[in-house]
Amino acid sequence: MSSATFVKSFGGGSAEGRARDKALLGGKGANLAEMASLGLPVPPGFTITTEVCRYVMAHGADQYPDGLAAEVDAALTKVEELAGARFGDSTTPLLVSVRSGAPASMPGMMDTILNLGLNDTTVDALAKKSGNARFAWDCYRRFVAMYGEVVLGVVAESEEHEQPFDQVLDQIKSKHRANRDQDLKEDALREAVAAFKQLVLDRTKTAFPDDVKAQLWGAIGAVFRSWNNPRADVYRKMQNIPASMGTAVNVQAMVFGNLGDDCATGVAFTRNPATGTAELYGEFLINAQGEDVVAGIRTPEPIHELAQKLPAAHAELVRVAKLLEDHFRDMQDLEFTIQAGQLFMLQTRNGKRTGIAMVKVAVDLVAEGKLTPREAVMRIDASKLDEVLHPTIDPKARPTPIAKGLPASPGAAIGKVVFTANAAEEWHNRGEEVLLVRTETSPEDIHGMKAAAGTLTARGGMTSHAAVVARGMGKCCITACTSLRVDAAKKTAAFVGGGKEIKIKEGDVLTLDGSTGEVFVGPSPLVPAQLGKELGTLMEWVDSFRRLKVRTNADTPTDARTARSFGAEGIGLCRTEHMFFQPERILAVREMILANDETGRRTALAKILPMQRDDFAELFRVMDDLPVTIRLLDPPLHEFLPHTESEIADVANAVGRAPKEVAAKVAELSEANPMLGHRGCRLAITFPEIYEIQAQAIGEAAKLVVGEGKRVHIEIMIPLVMVPEELRRLRVLVSEAFAKASGGIPFTVGTMIELPRACVVADRIAEHADFFSFGTNDLTQTTFGLSRDDAGRFLPAYVDQGVLAVDPFVVLDPDGVGALIELGVRGGRATKPGLKVGICGEHGGEPSSVEFCHRAGFDYVSCSPFRVPIARVAAAKAALAEGKP
Ligand code: PEP
Ligand code: MG
Repeated sequence: MSSATFVKSFGGGSAEGRARDKALLGGKGANLAEMASLGLPVPPGFTITTEVCRYVMAHGADQYPDGLAAEVDAALTKVEELAGARFGDSTTPLLVSVRSGAPASMPGMMDTILNLGLNDTTVDALAKKSGNARFAWDCYRRFVAMYGEVVLGVVAESEEHEQPFDQVLDQIKSKHRANRDQDLKEDALREAVAAFKQLVLDRTKTAFPDDVKAQLWGAIGAVFRSWNNPRADVYRKMQNIPASMGTAVNVQAMVFGNLGDDCATGVAFTRNPATGTAELYGEFLINAQGEDVVAGIRTPEPIHELAQKLPAAHAELVRVAKLLEDHFRDMQDLEFTIQAGQLFMLQTRNGKRTGIAMVKVAVDLVAEGKLTPREAVMRIDASKLDEVLHPTIDPKARPTPIAKGLPASPGAAIGKVVFTANAAEEWHNRGEEVLLVRTETSPEDIHGMKAAAGTLTARGGMTSHAAVVARGMGKCCITACTSLRVDAAKKTAAFVGGGKEIKIKEGDVLTLDGSTGEVFVGPSPLVPAQLGKELGTLMEWVDSFRRLKVRTNADTPTDARTARSFGAEGIGLCRTEHMFFQPERILAVREMILANDETGRRTALAKILPMQRDDFAELFRVMDDLPVTIRLLDPPLHEFLPHTESEIADVANAVGRAPKEVAAKVAELSEANPMLGHRGCRLAITFPEIYEIQAQAIGEAAKLVVGEGKRVHIEIMIPLVMVPEELRRLRVLVSEAFAKASGGIPFTVGTMIELPRACVVADRIAEHADFFSFGTNDLTQTTFGLSRDDAGRFLPAYVDQGVLAVDPFVVLDPDGVGALIELGVRGGRATKPGLKVGICGEHGGEPSSVEFCHRAGFDYVSCSPFRVPIARVAAAKAALAEGKP
């Protein structure tokens, strides 16, 4: 390192920084330094460190630490020497780019200025040197506009207005009858520069700076300021990037890809980022500047064409790409420019990739001896495995969305829109692919959700009924799409927003992306799920590293089988009320809920018992001696009460009562806050026969399956316990019924911990529990005082505005909910040191929450079948992060 404190130079085969200096130099600066030190062709430049950004934040805009100006001057002199050009020179002028570059990737959030160093004198020198006056004036007009916008703030008053420089350029284009920017000749470009400068003078009352040093400091100040622009601020909050990190500023000699047909600019990946195949992949444009590739004005050519057009530069790119990948031991994303046949590298970073590519690249790099299995697992972004397990929208042909909701269950689905569950089933039976579009869903819609390829609802949240059920089925689902208005009776819907309305009717085709929450009109191209052999290899490594067991939330034999194929090691939550979604079964549950007395309830329960027994028996057969946790009924009543006239008539008919009488009972049972009402074990405290019969059904099923020569491992779980006495009583009740029905098969009884009070008195609850399973859906709901079903209406705004970093129903809140969980684990294990502890809320399949569970000493996590592989990876990463040998 040099004696310079705030500025680090690179170029000419050496550099003062390295890739490891990201905190100080930002990602871009650190990797430019690394490339330069490897002797790669990098245009010379220097990086002003993030420390200066922090100084500016503390002292105010354009206030710099002592000595910075001298360091910048010295670094600039080095660049001049290496580039053989001088800043502001009237014969051989040096032009530079000034770019932001934070330690964390923040794509497009901050500002960049290109072609800096041009004025009325240097533009002529550039024209002469390049022998291309049009090129020189094109650079100049781009620079004045970019600088005018970014540094001098000459921008449109609001989003509806066109940017002022674009407006002026459009006028000049129409005057010169030029359709495209590249059709403008030198005289038109000269006119544009003059008009742009006039615009700056009119708007800022100050002339555009001719002095190149003033330009440079203006640009440096603007890049530092852009660290705190609103979009960067929001992005940081979303990504949990601390504002104190600051950005670096990179000043680098310009190279030009737009000087003629032996010039080009492009981007390349060292492997195919969609499939992971080991091949140089990317695109380029001959005679163009970098922004032309991004702007999509011209269609770039695939990288292999470069071998024909500029073979020497292509060969050099292939060499550099391999060298960089070997050096960083990961797939690289490269930006390059070719000037007069010579390759220059402008950026390298670890490349973004699809889930499939992520798995393949990691496994291939191990096979190539570049990574250890442990390193490969640590590199896996567990949440991206979703893409491997579900079909996704082809990233190469992604259209513009018309609406956005919460990404409740991943994967993509295309289908004809229907507005009722029955229609979904009918159309599906006719062989149509359908999407169920509803204001909200209820248990009666389950057959429609099953028939549909995906579900879209206007209301709900990440743990609302539709979301939980869809995730369980591995089907795409979007909830809380607040711009959606459904008129199921008229079989129409509309997406309303931004002064526009897009109407759809039954049969119209939409595409849903459950991984992003986006809705598209018409069919979008999909790529199917691909479970290659690489995933199997990766998962073997994963399982050798993890300590946490991974179970699944499954209510049906099909879900249980799927989960086992994904590696589930038991069922952590079987929601028994979910076994009653079919119409004939829901009737029996309704009968039970609406019964006037114990006799009525027992009659209804007698209908339920054999269905439950058979379901449990099948589940035990599928799980084959793996633990199965069965939760006794926990139906929030509103989800199961009949609402429509025909539903009420059906129940009335079944129980031989007048519809009016049933309607009156429904009214009597309706609750102001059903989620905090007569649900969970409260039902069994008032009506013990409900749990008694359920325990009997479980016992009979166990006896049946054991009689077939199989083994069972049964855990009965009591939901929503708030005081130890609830559990004490119900444990006695359930144990007696199970023992009697099963004839003495061993079993355990535990409880869900899903209320703050239960966490606080966990030591006493543990006296009656063989295990705890944290129900973090309800625990989040009750800790935050946020309704699971209604939060979707306003929680996205909290996240958008950065009031909350993430939706706490998706990512476990470590500070509040997490602190209660830790209290609960401590209390429980104080009473019973070996107490088994798990989680069965939706967080059980979310990577950072799984890592939390590992650190909190859980025995297992339980999640929906399609998230089992994700949880396995997250569990392994948590163990590796701890340095387990
Ligand atoms: C929970 O509350 O986290 C839970 C698993 O139970 P449910 O979602 O069924 O209320
Ligand atoms: Mg719950």
